[in-house]
Amino acid sequence: MVFCRNCGGDLPSENSSFCPVCGKPQNNASAVTMAAQTKNAGTAIVIALIAGILGFNGIGHMYIGKIGKGIILLVTGWIILALTFVFIPFGIIYIIFWLWQAYDVNVKTKYYNDYIMNHGKTPW
Ligand SMILES: [Zn+2]
Repeated sequence: MVFCRNCGGDLPSENSSFCPVCGKPQNNASAVTMAAQTKNAGTAIVIALIAGILGFNGIGHMYIGKIGKGIILLVTGWIILALTFVFIPFGIIYIIFWLWQAYDVNVKTKYYNDYIMNHGKTPW
């Protein structure tokens, strides 16, 4: 019988990569594999800010694999930009939106990384 290093639960075999009870990786090789799949939050934020100021919001979300939300943010950004051309003060909304999507990608990247390390798979 083999037991989980983390929670002490029964493992199906000594070659199990993950604990079926708590989801923790059970050997160093899989932990390294998981670490390689994590994303750098700083990189995600820089991508989000640079692409966003050029009119392409949501690229940071696409970088961490949230394609659907990235596309929604991209189109939303274009709508706000179009409104700004009609009525300049909407530019303030665009700046807030631009900063928010960069902040949101930071939050989501941390969640994404934690999820991979704890569950051995990507959250989305
Ligand atoms: Zn466990």
